[in-house]
Amino acid sequence: MSPTVSPTTHPDDGARAVAERIHSGRNFLITSHRNPDGDALGSGLALQRLIRQLGKEARVQVRDGFGKPLLNIPGASEVTITDTLPADYPNAYDAVFTMECPEVERTGYPVLPGPVVNIDHHLGNTMYGEINYLDLDAPSVGEMVLQINRRHLRLPLDRETAIAMYVSLATDTGFFRYHNTTLRTFQAAEELVRAGVVPGDVSLWINESSPRGAIKLLGLCLTTLELTANDKIATITLPDHFFADAGASPEDTEGIVNYGRMIEGVLVSALLKEIDGSSTRVSMRAKPGIDVQKVAAMFGGGGHAAASGCTIPLALPEAKAQLVSILSGIV
Ligand code: AMP
Ligand code: MN
Repeated sequence: MSPTVSPTTHPDDGARAVAERIHSGRNFLITSHRNPDGDALGSGLALQRLIRQLGKEARVQVRDGFGKPLLNIPGASEVTITDTLPADYPNAYDAVFTMECPEVERTGYPVLPGPVVNIDHHLGNTMYGEINYLDLDAPSVGEMVLQINRRHLRLPLDRETAIAMYVSLATDTGFFRYHNTTLRTFQAAEELVRAGVVPGDVSLWINESSPRGAIKLLGLCLTTLELTANDKIATITLPDHFFADAGASPEDTEGIVNYGRMIEGVLVSALLKEIDGSSTRVSMRAKPGIDVQKVAAMFGGGGHAAASGCTIPLALPEAKAQLVSILSGIV
């Protein structure tokens, strides 16, 4: 058994403990958070490939579906989307890896018994794993998987694994635009490009492969854009009928919230999506100096200072009024 790593431990101790667990086991489950994004899938698929490279078994399963562009990550079409754990879980597994989940509940699997290996870069991670590899300075969790390999597993990086890591790195940094883009980000990118990644191809797969419904949905959503609090808060709303109107699916909302933050002077952008008559899903994006994670946490959600999400137990108009009132206090 590997020791539990305390929050004060150096991240590399976590990376080492993860590598030891991989070496000592044979069969693993890998999962990530609900509504998986590029980092959730890229980090999990990269880890799966490294484990398989060692002649061991790993399966990736997530609770919700994901946008079509992410199907271009090598191995993504093999990911199981299911709300139940495998029938032979946990007995047949040496560990479950929870990629990018600050709390175990973020997996969407209400009960996750068995040895949990928590690999994350989110503020407020509750260190719920038997092993916790937490690195708040990591640009993406895929980059943390790269560190596990670079420092401990030391396997030759094949092109497909590098692509999975690169998707995670590029999507979580907004294609190298956000403030989590640092020297360390580019050092990882260098290693991945040396392993055969063609950045222009990945950008085409991720940024220019949206279904037409996704772009039509964006258009409808942008007609709802409003600025409040001296134009420092942008809100965008998505009533449920927009999906049918645009011919879009639930995964097609990715990225819409960013448009509010693109406006000069806007400090916070929020996308409010109607779930039903009594709950509204909120995505928030902030410019530096504003912490939306605190706001998301008020509603039991979380994320990063600059990108967070939560669900407000109110209908869309009421949720919007309450959110704008809270945000007005912090901008
Ligand atoms: P989203 O707005 O869904 O793209 O999420 C932005 C960031 O917040 C990501 O890092 C998510 O993992 C995180 N996040 C979103 N919703 C939640 C939630 N309910 N609880 C904790 N973290 C969340
Ligand atoms: Mn991430």
